[in-house]
Amino acid sequence: MAIKNAYLRELLARVEKRNQGEPEFIQAVTEVLMTLDPVVEKRPDLVEAGVLERIVEPERQIMFRVPWVDDHGKVQVNRGFRVQFNSAIGPYKGGIRLHPSVNLSIIKFLGFEQTFKNSLTTLPMGGGKGGSDFDPKGKSDGEIMRFCQSFMTELSRHIGADCDVPAGDIGTGAREIGFMFGQYKRIRNEFTGVLTGKGLPYGGSLARTEATGFGLCYFTEEMLKANGTSFKGKTVVISGSGNVAIYAAQKATEFGAKVVTMSDSDGYIYDENGIDLACVKQLKEVERKRIKEYLNFHPEAKYTAGCKGVWTVKCDIALPCATQNEIDGESAAILVKNGCIAVSEGANMPSTPEAIEIYLENKLLYGPAKAANAGGVATSGLEMSQNSQRLSWTFEEVDAKLQGIMKSIFKACDEASKTYGMPGNYMAGANIAGFMKVAEAMKAQGCV
Ligand code: NDP
Repeated sequence: MAIKNAYLRELLARVEKRNQGEPEFIQAVTEVLMTLDPVVEKRPDLVEAGVLERIVEPERQIMFRVPWVDDHGKVQVNRGFRVQFNSAIGPYKGGIRLHPSVNLSIIKFLGFEQTFKNSLTTLPMGGGKGGSDFDPKGKSDGEIMRFCQSFMTELSRHIGADCDVPAGDIGTGAREIGFMFGQYKRIRNEFTGVLTGKGLPYGGSLARTEATGFGLCYFTEEMLKANGTSFKGKTVVISGSGNVAIYAAQKATEFGAKVVTMSDSDGYIYDENGIDLACVKQLKEVERKRIKEYLNFHPEAKYTAGCKGVWTVKCDIALPCATQNEIDGESAAILVKNGCIAVSEGANMPSTPEAIEIYLENKLLYGPAKAANAGGVATSGLEMSQNSQRLSWTFEEVDAKLQGIMKSIFKACDEASKTYGMPGNYMAGANIAGFMKVAEAMKAQGCV
C-alpha cells in the first residue's frame, strides 16, 4: 500500500528527517499513515487541528543511566528509557522491555503502537513504553534485583497510578515486576497500582499472565469465524516460547488446533504430534532453560538452530509471538506457498512491510498486533480497575471481560475497514479505529 495523500506523504517525510537512525519507529509510523488516506479526506478538521503532527511526536521521552553492582562486585551500567507517547485518553500505559537490543527507536515504535492499541481496548489508557538494554539472561536473582531497583530509583520520579503505569514485556515477567514494585513502594511510601502484571498476593489480577496469548486466540477465532472457518482441526505454527507464546499455544489447543512449533532466540522445535505444553512450561517458566532441551523429553521431536526456519513449517495459521520483524517477505511467501490462511500477531510488529504486502496481496486473514495482542494491556487495565476499587475479581470474571473486549476489538476493526472502503483489511481497520478515538480526544483538548 502506498500513501496517496500529499499531506500524509509530506508528514512522513518530516518524520523520517526528524527521526533519522530510528528505523523501527519510522516503520511503525509508515504503517499507520499509509492507512489514513480516507480518514484525512473525510476529516479535514483533524488535519486543521494538527492532530497528525502531534500524534507522531512523543509527549516526553526520558533516558537515564542505570548503574548496578554484579555478583563479582563490579559496577555495570545500562541505559534506561521511558517514552510517554500520548495521554489523550488516559494515563500513559505500556510495558518495560529488558533486552540487549533495546534502543530509543525500539521504545518509540512500541510506545507509538501502544497508543492505538490501548485506544482499541475501549479502556481509558494512553500510550507509553520503557525498557533497558540490560540482558536478564544468565543473571542471578540478586543481579536482577539490583538492576530492577536501580532502574526504578530513577523511573519512580516519572510514573504514578494516575500518570504512567508500566507493565511487563520481553524480559520483564513477574519476578522483575515484583522487584520494581517493591522499590517504588519504598521510595514513594505508597501502595498503589503503579505497575501491572503484579503477583497475586500484592494486587495482581488473575488471568493477566494468560491474557495476551488467550486474547490473541480470542481475536483470531473471531476473525476466522467471520470468514467462515475456525481454529478447529488447524495446524498452527507459533514462534517464541515466552509468556505470549505459551498461552497462545494453550488457547489454540483448547480451540481444537494442533500447535507444532515453538522457538527461542537460538532455534525452534517441531513436534508433529503437537507440542507438549506442560513440558515447555516446566522448561521455560520454572527452570528458565533453552527450548532445545524439549528433545530430552521428546526425542521424536526435531530441533533446528536459527529462528527463521520456523516459517517454513507447513501450517494453516501462523502466530508470531517472539519479536519485531521476525517474518520477512521471503518467509511470508513461503507461508503462502504452504497454504497458510491466517497470520495473527502476538508479538509487536513481527511482520516486515514486505511481509504485510504479501499477506494483503494473497488475501490472507491478517490480524495486526495492535488489535490481536491487545488482550494483555486490556487485562492490565482491568488490574488497574481492581486496584482502584481494592477488589479482586475471579479468573472467570476477568477472562469473560477479556473475551468481550477482544470480540469488540475485532468488531471495531471489521467495521472501520468497511466504513473506510477497505473491507477485510483489518490492519487498516485497527489503525483507523484506534486513531479516531485518540484524534477526537486530542482535538477536544486543544493544542496540547
Ligand atoms: P518473553 O520474554 O516472555 O518471551 C519472548 C520470547 O521471544 C522468548 O522465547 C525469546 O527467546 C523470544 N525472542 C525474544 N527476542 C528475540 C529475538 N530477537 N529473536 C528471536 N527470538 C526472540 O516476552 P513476551 O512473550 O512477553 O513478549 C513476546 C512479544 O509479545 C514481544 O513482541 C512483546 O512486545 C509482545 N507483547 C507482549 C505482551 C505481554 O503481555 N507480555 C503484550 C503485548 C505484546 P529468548 O528467551 O531466547 O530470548
